[in-house]
Amino acid sequence: MTDFDSDISFSDDFDIAPVRLTVDLGALADNWRTMAKRSGNARTAAVVKADAYGLGLEDCGTALYEAGARDFFVAVMQEGVTLRTYAPDARIFVLSGIWPGQEGLFYEHGLVPVLASEEQLAFWMSVTAELGDHPCALHVDTGFNRLGLPLEEAIAFADDVSRPASFSPVLVISHLHSGDSPSSDLNQRQLEAFRRVAEAFEGIETSFAASAGIFLGSDYHFDLTRPGIALYGGEAVNGVPNPMKPVAAAEARIIQIRDAKKGETVSYGGTYQLARDSRLAIVSAGYADGYLRSLSGSGVPVRQTVKDGAFGFVAGHKVPVIGRITMDLTIFDVTDIPEDHVHAGDYVELFGRNVPLDDIARAGGTIGYELLTGLGLRYERRYIYPDD
Ligand SMILES: *Cc1c(COP(=O)(O)O)cnc(C)c1O
Repeated sequence: MTDFDSDISFSDDFDIAPVRLTVDLGALADNWRTMAKRSGNARTAAVVKADAYGLGLEDCGTALYEAGARDFFVAVMQEGVTLRTYAPDARIFVLSGIWPGQEGLFYEHGLVPVLASEEQLAFWMSVTAELGDHPCALHVDTGFNRLGLPLEEAIAFADDVSRPASFSPVLVISHLHSGDSPSSDLNQRQLEAFRRVAEAFEGIETSFAASAGIFLGSDYHFDLTRPGIALYGGEAVNGVPNPMKPVAAAEARIIQIRDAKKGETVSYGGTYQLARDSRLAIVSAGYADGYLRSLSGSGVPVRQTVKDGAFGFVAGHKVPVIGRITMDLTIFDVTDIPEDHVHAGDYVELFGRNVPLDDIARAGGTIGYELLTGLGLRYERRYIYPDD
């Protein structure tokens, strides 16, 4: 039952970890193949920024490469340098572009800067003039107002016959701001703008759709699609069932089970008062593990708008979070589980197969992306390989 029953013993770290994360690389590869199928005639890249959405660049990058991905997008140069080891002959695009002083490493590791501003463009021209030809990509802003050359300037640049021959974009990209809302006519407006860009850069490959854009249909696919969140099992489109396989499961261990009486309060601030005699599972995960304080139990005033709190899953039951989530500990109400079915030492699933990532994200007022990329440093990780 609990580890306290035994004398001295040696266990696998994963079996005794306070918090642990399982990453199913077979599901990740399947999700990439699903995205590739949905991308029709377009090639399918893999977006692995922020340590592969928090799930581990080395293992996820390798699994995606083995599944067949040969185009990768990272956010910053250092991620590209790391990925290069695991994706030897892939094209690696760096979405934030390049800063002066980084050009040596871009050339050495064969990284492709996605030039996103006029300053970067001018800098890159001076770099290629000095160091010779090296591929780059261009980001054009079609309405996001985040990164990218302004539309008209990009088109003027495409038409500029005096552009140096050493300047050789291999890809032109833009990014949808409302792809997760399929009914928004803003998608159509961005699509029309990007079609003008694609026409101006005729003969150069184009990329427009992230996960959500892939679901908008073939008009949005162009030459190369860029799925991220869908690969990791997250929801890309609001309000429709999520067709992706779950990839990550987070679990935390029950440290103790305690009885508490009706009328007593739970956790900091005493904001949650028990309506019945209860059994509480004290679980070793908290906001330092990315189990956000805003996931705290319903009716607990930690935020302006109070909605349902989060829940976990243990012994075949959904169990609600009660009281405020603290840095290292969270309290779940296990009163409805028969006493001999749940014990100290058991693991509560925080999200995974039984607790959809995006349901938990919604309970905390956020999105699956933020939960995954904020998991913190304490998780013991286990990777399941496709042929395990
Ligand atoms: C993060 C990002 C993606 C991937 O987006 P998902 O919604 O995770 O599929 C694609 N393109 C750009 C420019 C991005 O910043």
